[in-house]
Amino acid sequence: MATVADRLFNFSAGPAVLPLPVLERAREELLSLPGVGMSVLEISHRSKAFDEILDRTLADLGRLIGIGDDHELILLQGGASLQFSMVPLNLLQGQSGAADYIVTGTWGRGGLKEARRIGSAHVAWDGEATGYDRLPQADEIKLSDHPAYVHITSNETIQGVQWQRLPAVAAAPLVCDTSSDFLSRPIDLSRFGLLYACAQKNAGIAGVTAVAIRKDLLERSADSLPAMLDYRTFVAKGSRPNTPPVFAIYILGLVCEWLLNEVGGLEQIAAQNAAKAAVLYDTLDASGGFYRGHAAEACRSTMNVTFRLPSADLEQAFLAEAAGHGLSDLKGHRSVGGIRASVYNAMPEAGVLALRDFMHDFKNARG
Ligand code: PMP
Repeated sequence: MATVADRLFNFSAGPAVLPLPVLERAREELLSLPGVGMSVLEISHRSKAFDEILDRTLADLGRLIGIGDDHELILLQGGASLQFSMVPLNLLQGQSGAADYIVTGTWGRGGLKEARRIGSAHVAWDGEATGYDRLPQADEIKLSDHPAYVHITSNETIQGVQWQRLPAVAAAPLVCDTSSDFLSRPIDLSRFGLLYACAQKNAGIAGVTAVAIRKDLLERSADSLPAMLDYRTFVAKGSRPNTPPVFAIYILGLVCEWLLNEVGGLEQIAAQNAAKAAVLYDTLDASGGFYRGHAAEACRSTMNVTFRLPSADLEQAFLAEAAGHGLSDLKGHRSVGGIRASVYNAMPEAGVLALRDFMHDFKNARG
């Protein structure tokens, strides 16, 4: 049987490293959930055992993101990509204003493309001219008149740029794709009309997507929407209109428990994430230009650290040698190239320090 010692440091952008205690608990409970006599992979989604898992997961996740009376929290399938469509289907169709998109990278552009299929979408800012290496200044954002909503991507996973302060959007609902920094830092949910996140970065495994939506926005959905594309269906049926992804919800629940009980909450994980990212950015900055970060300094992501080396050959060598040191999945996305170190919640500090040491050694040997 595999042991902890077999594990590499996995810098994948997602699906990504999971907290070790979550994996160990899932392994422990895989043959039989405590007191149930069946695996979570085998139980009915209408069983009492799953009722408890779903209720606890929603309660813990709600606690972490600060759900109050104004928002509903629901779990869906289809990944964050389905939200690119569900958001405009529910919040744009039938509205007089356009949907505004602040495009800070590949994923924001993906959302915009889907919104355009459904209604009128307006580009309030687009960072393509500089390769999506920064966020807009406040005065660069050009909102339309009375937008139906304003969409942002809180962390662009591919480029490694992350919003630190939310943009001002006047009375428009702010909609946020927070897939790759969900649960990595505290949020003020009152600022959001809707936020969504797939689970396979900080919140567990692929198959489940969390959506928090302000209750008044549910009134926008048209009765003509297919039921499974209508947020109201998931609210009315408690995230269980049909067979939900039982295992993905179970793992999400374990991740929330880990965050609440072992880490101590989102303030604590945010401090850990800031410290881990700083180790890597300091290494870039101290490298005399050998490692060049992609993102402008003020927009750097704590989740995805993207950088280049002086040549493509050196980048190839870096990846190959890193793999030999147990540092896995560091290749940047093909659209940006270079290196991407994803350091989500579950990446241990030891992994970051091992990467830092490898970067020093590689530069000293090749720089
Ligand atoms: N948005 C962001 C910011 C992402 O990082 C990703 C996945 N990497 C997606 C959307 C798409 O998610 P999914 O594969 O779950 O559809």
